[in-house]
Amino acid sequence: MTDVPASHPRYASLRTRDAIVAGVEGGVTSMHGLVAHGRGEAFDYLLGERTRHFARDAIDAAAAMLVTAERPVVSVNGNAAALVPADLVALAAALDAPLEVNIFHASKARERAIREHMLAHGAPDVLMPATNAVLEHIDSNRRFVNPGGIHVADVVFVPLEDGDRCQALVRCGKRVITVDLNPMSRTARTATVTIVDNVTRAMPLLLERVAAWRGDAASCRDLPDAFDNERGLRAAETAIRAG
Ligand code: ATP
Repeated sequence: MTDVPASHPRYASLRTRDAIVAGVEGGVTSMHGLVAHGRGEAFDYLLGERTRHFARDAIDAAAAMLVTAERPVVSVNGNAAALVPADLVALAAALDAPLEVNIFHASKARERAIREHMLAHGAPDVLMPATNAVLEHIDSNRRFVNPGGIHVADVVFVPLEDGDRCQALVRCGKRVITVDLNPMSRTARTATVTIVDNVTRAMPLLLERVAAWRGDAASCRDLPDAFDNERGLRAAETAIRAG
């Protein structure tokens, strides 16, 4: 990594930047992913690079939705794979859910690289998009999904998703949980639950909640319906504007 001491005030942000660069160098993350990361960094800077109360509420709703889901799926793209591979593997394991590769800029080589990367981080298996299962309501290559994964999922966890696919997933009747630092993005506004936080901070907190509720789903069953995503997004936008 860049020669920065752990005491540097933006150490975590710089380490995360290094992880994305390593993702690009390893063929896991696209060059466009670097740009998306930059946009995320800007919002994180405005949020004070810490997890705020609205993100914690969304994490609770997301964990409850995941542990009470019938067929949850954890979707993985190039940025998420570079930043939080082990956490994604742990989440899928805790939920007994499949991991599925799903990328914005289609590339078979990169899909394979992401799969290998996740296997190297302990995933027992990783589903790949197939040509025999498609998402309705979307035209591009991104409509291809796995017939045993996203295609039949009731809840999909898609950190750092793009707006079109998020919209298509919702229109297919799926509940969608995303992590997105921009509360104004189409993804943030379309998802069922949006966690406005850096995925690197949100994942450990989400894992904690899932571990707490996994054996006791009854105690959190009402949380998803009580959650108001629009209210959370308004709170996030207010926090950003307040500086
Ligand atoms: P949309 O189509 O939803 O409007 P977009 O075009 O603004 O999305 P994309 O490039 O598709 O954005 O996706 C990047 C999104 O991910 C941005 O909203 C960005 O803020 C967010 N993001 C980037 N890095 C992180 C991160 N580490 N944690 C959480 N969110 C992130």
